[in-house]
Amino acid sequence: MVQIEEALKIIRDQQVQVKSEIRALSDCLGYSLSKEISAPFDMPTFDNSAMDGYALCGISREFKIIGEVAAGDESRIRLREGEAARIFTGAKVPENSSAVIMQEKTTVSGNKLFLEQPPKQGQSIRKKGEELKKGEVVFEKGYTITPAGIGMIGSLGIAMVEVFKKPVIHLITTGNELVKHGALKKEGQIYESNSYALRSACEDFGFSCKEKKQIQDDFEAIKSGIKDSLETSDILIFSGGISVGEYDFVKQALEENGVEEQFYKVFQKPGKPLYFGRKENKFVFALPGNPASSLSCFYIYVLPLLYKLSGSVKKGLDRLNLPIAKDYENKSDRPSFLKADIQNGFVEILDGQGSSMIKSMALGNALVFIDATTSVKKGEGVDCYLIS
Ligand code: AMP
Ligand code: MG
Repeated sequence: MVQIEEALKIIRDQQVQVKSEIRALSDCLGYSLSKEISAPFDMPTFDNSAMDGYALCGISREFKIIGEVAAGDESRIRLREGEAARIFTGAKVPENSSAVIMQEKTTVSGNKLFLEQPPKQGQSIRKKGEELKKGEVVFEKGYTITPAGIGMIGSLGIAMVEVFKKPVIHLITTGNELVKHGALKKEGQIYESNSYALRSACEDFGFSCKEKKQIQDDFEAIKSGIKDSLETSDILIFSGGISVGEYDFVKQALEENGVEEQFYKVFQKPGKPLYFGRKENKFVFALPGNPASSLSCFYIYVLPLLYKLSGSVKKGLDRLNLPIAKDYENKSDRPSFLKADIQNGFVEILDGQGSSMIKSMALGNALVFIDATTSVKKGEGVDCYLIS
């Protein structure tokens, strides 16, 4: 049995080898850069207008309009003192422009332009290089690409991006009581649901499950399932069969496949029977079968490894320390991750904390860490792990 911090450290300290690949920009969401990206040119690349209006030269309130520049035009106009040009958002400002005035603040009569206020130097001009200078690092290695990141890289004209590969994930659920959707559920059986929850938790963080298997509580079947998956995946996630029951065969089957235990059992609630192992560059998590335990172990322990295996600088769920909405007493002798909901800056510990109960997790948005046998008073800060 290890403490939570120890388990997390063991995961953090794993040496991993992550391969890189070149992907089309539009297929890069959620991938992490295997090489930094530097700006190939200044951004913006030329002084341009932030408004639809008039570019002008001088500080008077009356100007002579001498031409027009639209977005995309090369703009050969050169303004002299007292002159203005009609201009549109994104258009290159004429040479000698001292400001751009939005059209709403102007009156035009023939070729005369009148301003409500005298212009301020540089007003509404987006200066060349104000966002990025040529050669400047835009994103560091390990940056995990977001939609805005895709937009930024796209604006630099980079169509192919060097990223780390994402890990190949296999998911194996075990349990004789588990029935697939569509099959007849007999007395004593339940619908298998962890694979749905775990697969979508992977997807929620930009990872996908390549293969999903369901195996009975049968030692030989589990052993051969492990053998196949170790050959074709980078990380194998089990649900169920890792506890101390007569039919919990996963640990022994992993050992017989040469998987080396990194830790087994964590002093926590829920998720005490959590197992983590490794065989060469392949990793295995065996999560307890109780639905809330398996998902909470995924968030706290599996996600950090997935980030590591994808070359991301991210370490796991985002965390916040927030005041608790009501007094709470953790009566458990184990440190606990409690299903909770953050609303208006306060965190409420939800009803339905049982390991098998997943409705509270579905309605909440956080897991809150509270130490063993600890009372927290309303307004005191607690560590919240954001699950959505
Ligand atoms: P186990 O960890 O195999 O002892 O299972 C603990 C509890 O979780 C039992 O009540 C199981 O029926 C339930 N359980 C195990 N696997 C699943 C699953 N894939 N979907 C839903 N419930 C499960
Ligand atoms: Mg079981």
